[in-house]
Order: sequence, then C-alpha cells, then structure tokens
Amino acid sequence: MTTYNFAAGPAMLPPSVLEQVCADIPDWYKGMSVMEIGHRTPPFNELAEALKQKIKTLLKVPDSHTILLMPGGARMQFALLPMNFISKGQQANYVQSGYWSESAALEAKRVGNVHIAASSESKQYQQIPIDKEWQISQNAAYVHYTDNETIHGVEFHQTPNIEGIPLLTDMTSSLLAKPIAVEKYSLIYASAQKNIGPAGLTVVILDKSFAQRATPGLPKMFDYTNWLETDSMYNTPATFSWYVANLVMDWLIKEGGVEAIYRKNQKKSEKLYQFIDESDFYQNTIEASSRSRMNIPFLLADSTLEERFLEKAEEQGLMQLKGHRLVGGLRASLYNAMPESGVDALIKFMKDFQRQA
Ligand SMILES: *Cc1c(COP(=O)(O)O)cnc(C)c1O
Repeated sequence: MTTYNFAAGPAMLPPSVLEQVCADIPDWYKGMSVMEIGHRTPPFNELAEALKQKIKTLLKVPDSHTILLMPGGARMQFALLPMNFISKGQQANYVQSGYWSESAALEAKRVGNVHIAASSESKQYQQIPIDKEWQISQNAAYVHYTDNETIHGVEFHQTPNIEGIPLLTDMTSSLLAKPIAVEKYSLIYASAQKNIGPAGLTVVILDKSFAQRATPGLPKMFDYTNWLETDSMYNTPATFSWYVANLVMDWLIKEGGVEAIYRKNQKKSEKLYQFIDESDFYQNTIEASSRSRMNIPFLLADSTLEERFLEKAEEQGLMQLKGHRLVGGLRASLYNAMPESGVDALIKFMKDFQRQA
C-alpha cells in the first residue's frame, strides 16, 4: 500500500529525495554526514551556492534581488519586517485574508503603527480581499499580504496591483508552486516545511535597494542588511535543512521546473474541487475564484462522521487529513510533492466512504 501524506506542514517530501538522503547520510563527504561538516567549509559552501542558484533560476529572480537563507521560520519574518521597515511616522499596511495574515499584522502591531488596508474577516475569510478595494494609507511603509492561506484555503492567483509602495508577501505555502513576477515584490518569504524542505530554513527574496531602508542599529540577528552582508552565514545555519532543500530543488528541476509543476498543481486541485462540488456529501465553501491550489479544506455534510473518515483514510494510507482546529473539518494539502495518483486515491476513498456511510 502506498502512503500519501496530505499534511499542511511539515509536509511530505518527494520519495526520491528521501531515498537520496538515506544514501547520503553515512557518507556525504569523505566518510562524514552533511550534519557533521563545518558550514564554512568548501563542500558546504558549494551546496549553499548551488541551492541559492537553483532557487534563482527556478523563480527567474532578477539581479536586483538577492536570496537569503534565514532561520526562525515565517513567524520570525512577521517580527523582522516591522522592525526593519517601519520608519518614523510611517504605518505598515496589512491585508487580512485568513489566520496567517492576521497573525502577521498582530505581530507588527507589537512593533509599530499598523493599518489594516483590507480584510475579509467579516466574510469568514471565505474569499480574498481584491486589490481594487485595498485602502492603503498615505504614509505606508509597505503593504503585506499572505499569498496562500494554508488554514483557510484561499489564495491570490495574481500579484496584487499596487503602485509605488513596497509589496511584501508571505509565500510559505505557495513559493515554487507557480510562476511569480519576483520583480513586483520588495520582499518575499517562505519557511521551508511546506514546499521546500524540512523545517529550520526560511527562504527570503529581497530587493537589494529596499534592504537599504532597514532600520540601522538593530541586533544583527534581526537585521536584513547583516544577512545580506554575511551572505546568509552570520551564524550556524540549519545545515541539514539546507542540504535537503537543495535535493528538493534538483527534484523540481527534473520535474520540469515551476511552470510544469504549476500545471500539475492546477490539475490536481481542479480534480479534487470538481469531485467535492459534484457531491452533496462533501463541501468546500470557499468562493470559487479565491480557492487555494495548495490547501483544500472540506466538510462532511454530517460532521459526526469525521472521526471515522480519518480512521478509515489512515487504513488506506491517506494520512493527516484532519482540518486545522480553527476551521475544523478536513483538509487535503496538495503541495508540489503530492503526485496526481495521491489525489486519485483520495477521491476514490471519498467515493467509497460515502457509499458505505
Ligand atoms: C506554516 C505557515 C506559517 C508559519 O510558519 P513557521 O515557519 O512555523 O513560522 C506562516 N505563514 C504561512 C502562510 C504558513 O503556511
């Protein structure tokens, strides 16, 4: 029986990557594992450069931007953005489309002045607030939004159209899953454990001229210019996570790159949405044009069947389908590494479960 892991994060990794990890562990370099090698040695440096180069190529990152590999997860970025980029008299603008963007705004409020430019909270986060309706304040330091809301299951399918104000985004659950126009952003961040690799690494794509606005004198761990100057090697990085991420990038290149994986992601998510929409046993309540391609929350018409659904699914090797406690129900995360056969197996199980219920 094949196991398909639908976790929202930490999420499944491509099986071929796991096999490579197993093969490499005892002897990655001269009889030592990658976890036992200095982060400033030539072999590790080579890996770090290769990883950055692959991300740059896959996402067509222009030379105006640099790639930082940082610790602390997305939540550390929630804190660092306002610390670095709200200057005196400025307001940070946040767009709220679900739990993660709300959390980012709450953290920014601990640091500086925040203006909520738009929110779909009154719509229970069932759709994204469209950019035409964003009310950006006069003295905006930046505008922040969350590209894909992992818990609520809504996604921006286009870059919001804003002019003249730095645009920052949390792409933790969507980076490398679709082509993006990197040049439109001043800063993009994504912690690794959804689409990139194991937890412990956060990829930041930063416009170098925007970085110069960073508040001077911050502790170095919190200062983007320090991360730029030290080439992401200020302190000991999560070397194992970097190593696995590098293998995941190799896998993604072999899969045909971001355009190719995007087409697969479209196909996978459309299959599942279509099945759910045609059923009166399962339901997804998200407004159609805001639906996420990565995280698909769904409900059973009879919610008392949820426990049994999860139990039976596990018996079939369909793992971690429980919805987030905030929204309840069930959730299938279909990140890059999830093959179409996993979606087919899930749909087949859902049909069988309905028949037997
Ligand atoms: C998972 C997730 C986070 C939290 O990431 P951490 O690395 O745990 O801080 C933030 N934003 C989004 C969109 C996520 O999916």
